[in-house]
Amino acid sequence: MYTRSIHSLYIVLILMFCLSNTPVEAQEQETVYDKRLALYKKTAALTQIPWYYIAAVDQYERQIYKDIEDDQVISIRFPSDLWYGAGNNSMDIKKIEFFDGKGKDGNGDNKADPSDGEDALYTMASFLQEYGHTEEDIKIGLWNYYKRDLTVQTIKNTAKVFKKFNDIYLTDRDFPLAINHTYSYRNTWGDRRGFGGNRIHEGTDIFADYGTPVKSTTYGVVELKGWNLYGGWRIGIRDIYNIYHYYAHLAGYQDGVKVGQIVKPGDVLGKVGSTGYGPPGTSGKFPPHLHYGMYKDNGYSEWSFDPYPYLKKWERMAKNKN
Ligand SMILES: [Zn+2]
Repeated sequence: MYTRSIHSLYIVLILMFCLSNTPVEAQEQETVYDKRLALYKKTAALTQIPWYYIAAVDQYERQIYKDIEDDQVISIRFPSDLWYGAGNNSMDIKKIEFFDGKGKDGNGDNKADPSDGEDALYTMASFLQEYGHTEEDIKIGLWNYYKRDLTVQTIKNTAKVFKKFNDIYLTDRDFPLAINHTYSYRNTWGDRRGFGGNRIHEGTDIFADYGTPVKSTTYGVVELKGWNLYGGWRIGIRDIYNIYHYYAHLAGYQDGVKVGQIVKPGDVLGKVGSTGYGPPGTSGKFPPHLHYGMYKDNGYSEWSFDPYPYLKKWERMAKNKN
């Protein structure tokens, strides 16, 4: 009797722990987003650089480094020489100024500390501010900082998404095909492909009937649209995690879908087809399916990774919504 009550006490304790744990984790995650947004808006008020650009730079850099903790608020990093000025290693703002460093004091402690989020944001926004405040000025400022077109493009697109949805907590996702249609897929990533030499299959093929609606899986911006020898009518969307989502072999596009357009999960992009493997308009050389590919950019190069586990996850999310 005694041992049994101890036993049930344990079960109650374990249950309480499990039940309390999930909401606390969710709350902590929201708090990080809240903290970020507050700092972006404070920095924007100080520099007149719109908060969504400051947020997009931080978001971009968060995807680049492998050692970022989940609860780390700000992720922007600066080259030492740029921050302190060549030959200086002091955080003293007067010394930094003397050595022509860019490091600035955002939190009012008279130190410019590159590991302090407020200092880092204020420094980045001040750097951009030197070029002006219009979208075009900020684009030039970003180019002068990163000197890479894809980086500037990604930050610009992420800023557009943040501005449009007036939020940085954009975690909703969708499955790329309407789940009430018939479809099938298995993990085909890395399979060999014969056409056009020895290529590796960089994606997952989801087989479905002609005309099945194809949807955006994420928040993002249409980066590319049009014909491609292998992909046929394809469309590419850059999300806010420096990931490019590639949809190929479409029968056609949804009316009004164009490059530069902001999309959200579930927005219809086009229809399943079997286009590709020839000149524009070629169709029917293989059964109709959606080829779905994902490419990650780390600030230097882009590489393909396996979308299959993500598709499984988004499929579960879509089913839970119904
Ligand atoms: Zn494929």
